[in-house]
Amino acid sequence: TTITRFAPSPTGMLHIGGARTALFNYLFARRNQGKFLLRIEDTDKARSTQEAVDAILDGMSWLGLESGEVPIFQAARADRHVECAEQMIASGKAFRCYVTPEELQDRRERGEAARASAKQDGISETEKKALLAQASELLAPFRSPYRDGRTPADTDAPYTVRLRAPDSGEISVADKVQGDIRIKADEIDDLILLRADGSPTYMLAVVVDDHDMGVTHVIRGDDHLRNTFRQVPIYEAMGWDIPVFAHVPMIHGDDGAKLSKRHGALSTTAYRDMGYLPEALNAYLLRLGWSHGDQELFTLDEASEVFSLEAINKSPARLDLAKLNDVNAHFIRTCDPERLMTLLKPWLEKAAEAPLSSDILAKIETALPSMSDRGATLPELAEAFRFFWTANTDNLNKKARKALSGDGLARLSKLRLAIANVTEWSDTALQQLLTSYCEQNELSFGQIGPPIRAALTGGLPAPDLAPVMAWLGKDETLRRLDFHLA
Ligand code: GLU
Repeated sequence: TTITRFAPSPTGMLHIGGARTALFNYLFARRNQGKFLLRIEDTDKARSTQEAVDAILDGMSWLGLESGEVPIFQAARADRHVECAEQMIASGKAFRCYVTPEELQDRRERGEAARASAKQDGISETEKKALLAQASELLAPFRSPYRDGRTPADTDAPYTVRLRAPDSGEISVADKVQGDIRIKADEIDDLILLRADGSPTYMLAVVVDDHDMGVTHVIRGDDHLRNTFRQVPIYEAMGWDIPVFAHVPMIHGDDGAKLSKRHGALSTTAYRDMGYLPEALNAYLLRLGWSHGDQELFTLDEASEVFSLEAINKSPARLDLAKLNDVNAHFIRTCDPERLMTLLKPWLEKAAEAPLSSDILAKIETALPSMSDRGATLPELAEAFRFFWTANTDNLNKKARKALSGDGLARLSKLRLAIANVTEWSDTALQQLLTSYCEQNELSFGQIGPPIRAALTGGLPAPDLAPVMAWLGKDETLRRLDFHLA
């Protein structure tokens, strides 16, 4: 079976790039009736916090990217990582290295470096350049003098455990997104598996955990590509199957630069706090770097039917917040009204700066299906309901004040009588009343509309008058008219 995983380091919020990685892993597992696992990579004790673990879990559960399995904490598995390192020592694939940090520094200063030359097939020049830049960080592969069985005079000296990196051949990765990428094996150093204090390195832990968790597909950001070249030899040293890799290009800002705060919020739950719906963020992040024909909007269910690694774009995607707003507006419009009301309520009360009465909330809920296209985000939509709670009032805008003076006010006074006599208080009946009232009194709608609208909404944006009256109810409608007629 297909097993994927999301493996965040709990050092901060759930980054939207991380959320997209989680989403791809989640969808790929579902597409293949597999499992999606979560592994918290908390080996960096200084930087890992419980708060960050909670933030990541919160973000994932908000997005609905539930694993269904208990998360695995990497640090708790240190013994197992050590055990694997020892196994590699026993099989001669790893060795104890007594080179001191000072000697290492010396070697570096002497410039014992090799040239890296990544060779790629089937990718563009720009991509090749980027990969070469990454590969060049593998310069100066370190080969320990102790790899060939030498031991120091003082065998109690501290040592690290290093992988005996392959000396010849190539390390190749058949990446589902990047294509076939390979580097010369001698460009990889004898990388450290256990530090001098006996603690396992990240590189070892990732490989052991992915293997033990049965991970078949490693889908992650292409910032991990160079790690992959170092991890593959560990799989080989352990005699383990190498998983399928898919390195997803990063998200960039709208100007093409590396994504940073100035491009917009980076934390997943910041989008919740700005009034985006989780399904909108999912749909947006999904299309950011993946496509399926010309379909723009997907629910998780829809996407899990068609998701494939091959359809992930090879070039970096750009964050486009205007697009996200369009997507959010769509999901607000098509949201189940009851759920939308629940989501909207805190925003309404925030806009009103006070709790709203159950009467007003009930009226808003009735109006919601017809008004749900009035905001791209929840706070924008909440704002469209403002006239429900700011009843008539002294702080009318200029236009409203003008509409409620002179002839306008006189016409409103007459119309009030007709409105008070309406027995069936419905949108259609009220529309009919307004139409026939105009006909009978030889008025145009433009002569009565502005004063009623001003009285009912204080000049705030609002839909047609008949539904507005219907939603406000007869008592409230008359009350608002009377406020200005008194
Ligand atoms: N913990 C790594 C990170 O947060 C991810 C490792 C991986 O996916 O292999 O960047």
